[in-house]
This record gives sequence, C-alpha cells and structure tokens, in this order.
Amino acid sequence: MSIVRAKHRYRAHPSRLLVTALIGVVVASGAAASGWILFPKPTTASTHANPPDTASTSPLPTPPPEAVARPDCRVVPCVALTFDDGPDRVTTSRLLDLLEARRTPATFFVLGHRIAGNEDLLSRMVHLGMEVENHTWDHPKLTHLAPDAVVDQIRRTNEEIVRATGRHPEHLRPPGGNWSPGVTPTDGLTLTTWDVDPRDWFHRNRAAVVQNTLSAVQPGSIVLLHDIHPSTIDAVPEILDGLEARGLAPVTLRELSTSGTLPHE
Ligand SMILES: [Zn+2]
Repeated sequence: MSIVRAKHRYRAHPSRLLVTALIGVVVASGAAASGWILFPKPTTASTHANPPDTASTSPLPTPPPEAVARPDCRVVPCVALTFDDGPDRVTTSRLLDLLEARRTPATFFVLGHRIAGNEDLLSRMVHLGMEVENHTWDHPKLTHLAPDAVVDQIRRTNEEIVRATGRHPEHLRPPGGNWSPGVTPTDGLTLTTWDVDPRDWFHRNRAAVVQNTLSAVQPGSIVLLHDIHPSTIDAVPEILDGLEARGLAPVTLRELSTSGTLPHE
C-alpha cells in the first residue's frame, strides 16, 4: 500500500484525514466484496465506446512559462487550492480570469457530464498551467454503487477529460470523500481528498469561506472549494491575499504531491 499522509494534519484535523493511495484494478473476489473496483489508468483513449475526437485530443500548445507562478515547494511552504464540481460556464470562467490575472495555479476536479460544451474551459485550464482531475461522472456516492458502475463513473470521466484536454488525469476525488479502503493499489489514479474544508457549499458566503479557509490552512494543505458557487469565486482574491501574507504559495496538486512537502510513509 502506497500511502501519502501529512502527519501534522491528522492531529489538527482528526475528522479530515488526508489519505492518498494509489489505486487501480481490483478484480480479486475479496476486493470485489468491498464494493469497490477501480481500473488502471488507460494508456490511450481508445477504450471509449465511441471513438474520441482525434482533433480535440491533439496535444495542446505548451503553456507559456509565465502563465502561472511555479514556486519551488522545497524552498517555500506550498498549498494546493482545489475546485470541485465544475466546470460551469459563468463561475469557472470568472475564476479562471481571476487566477490568470494573479498567475495562480489551481487544480480542478471536474464532473464528466459537465465537460461536453465546456471543452474550451478545460483547454484554457491546461493552457494556463492548471490541472484537470477526475471527480466522477455525475457525483454519486461511490460506496453505494455496484463495482461496474464505479468503473463506469470513473472511466467515462477520464475519457472526457482526455477528449477535451489531451491529457490523462492522475487524481480521483470521490464525491464526499467516500471510498472503500478495500482497494488494491496498482499503478493508476491517486485517490485524493483534502484537509481544509471551509464548507463553501453550505455557507455560500464570501467572508465565511475566507475565514474558514485561512484559519485552517497550513503548509502542505489541500483546500476543498467548489467553482460552481459565486460566493466561492468572490472569496478567492482574499484567500490569495491571506496565503501571500503568510508566505504560503499556491501550487497544483501534482506539484504539492511530488514536492516532498508531504511526508511519505
Ligand atoms: Zn463534489
């Protein structure tokens, strides 16, 4: 089992454990009994039931190096801002405008069913140096689904992301953070939750989102936000100001995961 944990956050947030685990195919009967079967990250988009639009899967232009800041997390403390449940034409577009103006990288956990018609938003994310990751097709509680349905939720979303961006996701965030630990890890998606949850979906209030985020964030934190709520987008400038005041540099999830910021065990 390959597990990444931030030990200090277990103490700070006992109910919000950050656990990332490499997950992949589970075909053993014992694992199937757990209710989870996940699949290995496909090597091509050819597993889609319908042939992908090859024109849209062409490699995107390399983002200009000045698109977002790339701090060295071995030198400065970093955090990852993650935005779930989009893309949304209005709120996600506004967020991207804001992040681009601030040269701030972020990670988007998108829903597969929202990608069609919003491919330009995902292309823009990648072009700006953001990361696009998998948040399932339509946000079910995965532990309530049959194994085949779980596979379908994740695979279809992966394929939509590849179709829109030409790039494979590396992280899966199960809705609500609900997953079964009885998953055999293989070389596949990394199961990723969070340690800071300002409950923006509940408060729908700019000041509360700012306060709840900045009061909990620490070096190495993964912050859970949702780019479908206008109040969350309204909160982002003050969150960025607060992070900057503390010397915390926003990076993408992959940059945070590979920076050594999180202790591995
Ligand atoms: Zn969600």
